[in-house]
Amino acid sequence: MITIYGKGVSAGIAAGPLCFFRHARAEVTRGAAADAETEWKRFRDARAAASEQLGALAERARATAGDEAALLFETHRMMAEDPDYEEAVAEGVRGGMSAEAALADARERFAEQFAAMDDPYMRLRAADVRDISERILAILTGAAQGGFESDTPVILAADDLSPSETIQLDKGKILAIVTEGGAEVSHTAILARAMGIPAVVGAGGCLRAAYAGHEAIVDGEDGTVVLDPDAETRARLAEKRAEQLRERERLDRLRGGASVTRDGRRVRICCNAGDPGDVAAALANGGEGIGLFRSEFLYLGREAFPSEEEQFEAYRKALCAMGDREVVIRTLDIGADKQLGYFALPREENPAMGNRGLRVCLDRPDIFRTQLRALYRASAFGRLGILLPMVASVWEVREAKELCGQVRRELAAEGAAFADDVPVGVMIETPAAALLSDRLAKEADFFSCGTNDLAQYTLACDRQNGNLGRFFDPRHIAVLRLLKLVVDNAHRNGVRVGICGELGADPQMTETLLAIGFDELSVPPNRVLPLRQRVREADAALARARLLDELTYS
Ligand code: PEP
Ligand code: MG
Repeated sequence: MITIYGKGVSAGIAAGPLCFFRHARAEVTRGAAADAETEWKRFRDARAAASEQLGALAERARATAGDEAALLFETHRMMAEDPDYEEAVAEGVRGGMSAEAALADARERFAEQFAAMDDPYMRLRAADVRDISERILAILTGAAQGGFESDTPVILAADDLSPSETIQLDKGKILAIVTEGGAEVSHTAILARAMGIPAVVGAGGCLRAAYAGHEAIVDGEDGTVVLDPDAETRARLAEKRAEQLRERERLDRLRGGASVTRDGRRVRICCNAGDPGDVAAALANGGEGIGLFRSEFLYLGREAFPSEEEQFEAYRKALCAMGDREVVIRTLDIGADKQLGYFALPREENPAMGNRGLRVCLDRPDIFRTQLRALYRASAFGRLGILLPMVASVWEVREAKELCGQVRRELAAEGAAFADDVPVGVMIETPAAALLSDRLAKEADFFSCGTNDLAQYTLACDRQNGNLGRFFDPRHIAVLRLLKLVVDNAHRNGVRVGICGELGADPQMTETLLAIGFDELSVPPNRVLPLRQRVREADAALARARLLDELTYS
């Protein structure tokens, strides 16, 4: 028996024979090229064919793994059209190279550039560049398709799998995936989770070809792969698998259920959405609404601001999908860690305390009004709430509401349809907002506590700084005291209050948050059911007595 340790990125346990994936690697010969014009045409034709394949893959991904997975292939399509990438190939061809050789060089150049970036997410984009380049190369050279041979379901092993290789896998034949490379945020991991296939990545150089055909048990939770398991290990993992299935069935039964504590306290469990795929996931997981729709995804990763029409469509779709459940859309929250290349904000020494969130919108009403127009127009299609981020003063909310009023008057004059009862909420994510929550409650229709930032600013700990370890503690008593103050002030003024920071999804904090008195927890879609289970086990009154003791000022 051999145990290989990697990183579990998609939970579940599966057992079966190990089978290796064979990549389609196009052989690039660097022989004589035709004239530049011919080679350039060959490249463009191959890219057009690749683009068609990617369109079909996007549709397949949408059907089997959801919108987020489909977006991946749509992004690949865009990357293949990227002017810098295209120019790199053109330059090689002009210099007398064949289309294949020029493309292979461009692939290496761009992949190396991505691989050298500081941001781990950007580093992983090297795999995307390789993936699209391999696709075009395979078309140019007529290389055979990659894959694996087996009539029965297998544990698929590979050095690494590209997104297109992963999505093309016949799901019915894959019990689990194990790769030597990869990381939690790699696309293989994202797709495996979306397809519900257990997966372990980062197994290092431990997967020997000689293991092919051997029995393996993959545990996608603790990241182990056991080869040739002995009877005891087999029995232990079979029991763990049975328990996981029982747990999943138990949670599935809570899908349409209410989130009520043992002593009868009801709380709404809503979802945080960072892109349209999360809206579908919210519905699939029994979310009672969208408590935080981060509108930034519409603005990030592009060349210019999204138009009113584009925004309207995105908001309308989310509202229609959620039907009569509320969708709280947060207005643009850029700045700090979310910078837009095309919106050249002046360089700041301390961007987390700089021009971000509502500050940007109030200083640039042109940008804000476009978003507000799109939001109000979309409000005719569902139950919209508008949420203002990074508030520190009462006047900021008044000014934002004044702009909302102007936009509504403008739309009314144009005869455009919009709901006239859209609540406007305030995010509580600065200590100032928490301390002023009694006054802000007079201006806001609801509060949503952003504890990621509230903890950052209260504890003077940069949330992006991974080295702060135990010093960055969103459960810190100072943060909890502020939250209690906010909830008390909200309720005294008849204002509902939720939490949308990560703290809300922390199962160890559920009782405490109920005791503080939150009306709503907004969490990532896959946390809804486990959290509902937690709420149903909790006793809010008992927890409240304990908490008051803990938070008492001495
Ligand atoms: C927060 O700060 O807690 C929050 C929900 O907003 P974001 O994480 O998007 O800054
Ligand atoms: Mg925030």
